[in-house]
Amino acid sequence: MVGMIDYHMHSILSDGKDTHEEMVKAGIEKGLEEIGFSDHVCLKSVNWAISEIDIPVMTQQILDLREKYNGQITIKYGIEMDYFPGREDEIRSLINSLPLDYVIGSVHFIGDWNFDSDKSLYGKWSNDELYHMYFELVQMAAKSGLFDIIGHLDIIKKFRVYPESDQTQLLEDTLKIIQENNLVVELNTGGLDRPCADFTPSPALVERCYQLHIPMTISSDAHQTSQIARHYETGIDLLRRVGFKELAAFDNRKQRMFRI
Ligand SMILES: [Zn+2]
Ligand SMILES: [Zn+2]
Repeated sequence: MVGMIDYHMHSILSDGKDTHEEMVKAGIEKGLEEIGFSDHVCLKSVNWAISEIDIPVMTQQILDLREKYNGQITIKYGIEMDYFPGREDEIRSLINSLPLDYVIGSVHFIGDWNFDSDKSLYGKWSNDELYHMYFELVQMAAKSGLFDIIGHLDIIKKFRVYPESDQTQLLEDTLKIIQENNLVVELNTGGLDRPCADFTPSPALVERCYQLHIPMTISSDAHQTSQIARHYETGIDLLRRVGFKELAAFDNRKQRMFRI
């Protein structure tokens, strides 16, 4: 995977199994050129996100490792930030307090329901309703101006929840908003190991991103060293087949493109 990046990984400070340094070493072993951490930061108190007290520890870890492994691998500082409508100011001030290279904006909650870890409320709404609730939140996240990358765009399908009727318009509207707000969409290869067994977003959406000139990046959503750059060959094949010749990377929240 020479020349490749992985911008979505979790350490033990959120819900990952390995330390930052173990992740860095594994990234080097896999021949990655660049890795970026993206521990969960969530305004709601949940056991899978970093505790507030650990945020300065995370910053220091990443800055120290960046120096220690300089010349072997480039280490980026990102976070995976939960989007909550109405809490944009709090999210913004948290983001602005950190020396970040990029922010992945993810929707893991519909209201108070953490739909990607708690299966108990599926069935309360029709799947079409769920798709609307979820993608409307993604649209708000994209319009908020808070984020650089939209995380696992169609994660609402995680537990094999698919719409009952055609949702092309909803998806198109969402992609248009992403495009107008100059956001990057990640090809999250971790979806292949989730119940949906599919890239997030799915290949059809990857194709629409290309057609709409929405830049993409690639990431594994690794929660342990063995998952870093997982399924990258298939992922890069898909991106190339669709037409992508370059992918997005970030320095200090500024987008740059590199060739694949
Ligand atoms: Zn996520
Ligand atoms: Zn994640």
